[in-house]
Formats: sequence, structure tokens, C-alpha cells
Amino acid sequence: AAAPARRPIRELPDALISQIAAGEVVERPASVERELLDNALDAGATQITVRLLAGGVRLISVEDDGAGIARDELPIALKRHATSKIASLAELEAVGTMGFRGEALAAIASVGELTLISRTADAAEAWSIDAASGEMRPAARAVGTTVEVRELFFSTPARRKFLKTDATELAHCLEAVRRHALSRPDVGFAVWHEGRLIEQWRSWRDLEPLRAHERRIADVLGEDFLAQSVAVDHRAGPLRVWGRAGVPDAARSRADGQFAFVNGRFVRDKVIAHAARSAYEDVLHGQRQPVYVLHLEIDPTRVDVNVHPTKIEVRFRDGREVHQAVRHAIENALATPRAAFAGAESA
Ligand code: ADP
Ligand code: MG
Repeated sequence: AAAPARRPIRELPDALISQIAAGEVVERPASVERELLDNALDAGATQITVRLLAGGVRLISVEDDGAGIARDELPIALKRHATSKIASLAELEAVGTMGFRGEALAAIASVGELTLISRTADAAEAWSIDAASGEMRPAARAVGTTVEVRELFFSTPARRKFLKTDATELAHCLEAVRRHALSRPDVGFAVWHEGRLIEQWRSWRDLEPLRAHERRIADVLGEDFLAQSVAVDHRAGPLRVWGRAGVPDAARSRADGQFAFVNGRFVRDKVIAHAARSAYEDVLHGQRQPVYVLHLEIDPTRVDVNVHPTKIEVRFRDGREVHQAVRHAIENALATPRAAFAGAESA
């Protein structure tokens, strides 16, 4: 039999490499929005405004009042593997920022029309750069950054076909903002869709952190959610688990009220979910799903955040330690008599 035709090995062109990377990071408008929100928070933003058209498919714009990007660094920000957040393996292993891969902007620019508009505190004016052409021009804005992404997947129809209705994409975008908002009550958020303000949460940075988190939970998940939950605060060696755990009565039929954050990053984690589930074992019956907002603080060297391009999954060095801490944290919180809680909280 004839040998199969052999094609020569070639290095892929840059644009194609970015599109392949985008396949991992950018699934839908909400994934773009999440990356842009991460960047805004990493830049020290205190106020973030999201503007969407058609569920984010036609436009996702994220505007922040963070540190901004210097004019001569605008083209670099758009390059693959270009980041200001880490410079060495040691820094990667102790990373404290949301981003560090230096991939998001390049990936997004390969599947949508991306424009960066930014101004640093020491600059007299803002500058904008169009990712496709590299063209730069002066612009007007206060210190901070706006990233606009238009016509997502317009040039990749195969990807575009996987998008759901605008309403569904919008719901995913809102969920992404909710997660960021729950993690950072000190930051104000506003979300506009089709020119209408649909969510607005003020910054609670003037409150003491636990209070601020309570207020933000009430903003995002409702006063009922807050009222039907007890405070969690538990330390176990290098770990701290804190937040709010819903009382058994607040359980739902769907698992849509479960939020877990590791060092401020929203994660979907089996260890945490299982530990929470087991803490409710004796008090929840059938398929009822507990509600909770849990924050894990852990030495960054004990958790690997570099296991998934979107960083929504993490790997703990000691999963058992995390499991135990989460389980005990919730069990202790639920065992605290509610009357005592109500009293403490109104005092
Ligand atoms: P990463 O966040 O992993 O560093 P990105 O591709 O998301 O990679 O961003 C590249 C770089 O662009 C960042 O490291 C940062 O220096 C800069 N940057 C991106 N967004 C912003 C922003 N909103 N404000 C300030 N700088 C930003
Ligand atoms: Mg980033």
C-alpha cells in the first residue's frame, strides 16, 4: 500500500495561534467579559461599567478607572504572552492577580474587533489602538481603560453558530458580573444593555470588609438570601474560610446559589462543592441544593491556579485540608443558634 501523503511540518502563523488559544478562553461573550473584568480589577479599578449590545455579541465594552496603560505599551498589551503581572516562575507560583497568562487580549482580538482606549495618570491625553490595524490615535477619557469588543466570532462563523439567543448570552454576562461583584464589594459595578441600565451596585469600600460583603450579597442575591444565611468564619492552619451559608430552609431545587471564591477568584471546584454538600448532609434532604457564598483564603503557593486557561478550576496542594476546613466552617456556622445570630446582627 502507498504511504499516506506526508505534509511538511510548518510553524503556524501568529493569527492562527491566537485563534486556537481563543478556542480555549473565549467560548461566548461572557468569557470575554470575564477576562476584561479581571483586567479592570487587576488595574486597581474602583468603578467598572459594562456596556453590552445584543447580549454582548455585537458589543462588550468594559470601562474602568484603574491605572491605565501607557501609550507605548498599548501595542504590547495586545501581543500574545505579554503581561505586566508576572516576570518569573517564582512570581507565577505566588501569583496574586486575576490574570497572568498574557493571553486574553490577543485571543479576544483574534475572534472579535477589539479597541483599547487608555490613559495613565501622568499622561496628558488618552490613546486608542485598534487591534486589527494597529492604528493609534489620541482619544478623550479620564485615567483608566476602556476595552471594546465588537462582533464576536464574526469572522469565525463555525464558532458563532454555537452562540445562543441574545437573552441567554446576556444572562451569562450578568452571571459573570455577579461573580466579580460578590468577590469585590469595594468596587462599584454598572451594567448597561442596549442603552438601558440593568444593574448597578455601589462600592461599599467605606464599610468594614465583612459588612461590605454582606451588603454586596444583599445587592446581588437579594436581602432574602442574606437574611436566610448565617455567617461563616473558620480558620484552620494556613486556611481561612468565611462568607455566608444559607440555612436549610433556604435550599433550592437548583444549584444556582452556590458561589465559591479562592483568594478572590470565582472557582468551580469539586472539593469545595463536595465539602459543602457533606456539611449539609444531615439537615438537607432529597435533591435540595444549599446556597452559599464562600471565600477561601489560602497561601497562594498551596493552590495552583494555572491548570485551566480560564482559571475557573484550581488545584489544591492538599485537597483534604481544604475539604475539612470547608466542611467544618459550614457545620460550625449552621450549628450556631440562629437566635444568637439574629441578635448579634441587629446589635
Ligand atoms: P494578563 O491579564 O494575563 O496579563 P491580558 O491579555 O488580559 O493578560 O492583558 C495584557 C496586559 O494588558 C496586562 O498584563 C495589563 O498590563 C494590560 N491591561 C489589560 N487590561 C487592562 C486594564 N483594564 N487596565 C490596565 N491595564 C490593562
Ligand atoms: Mg487578563
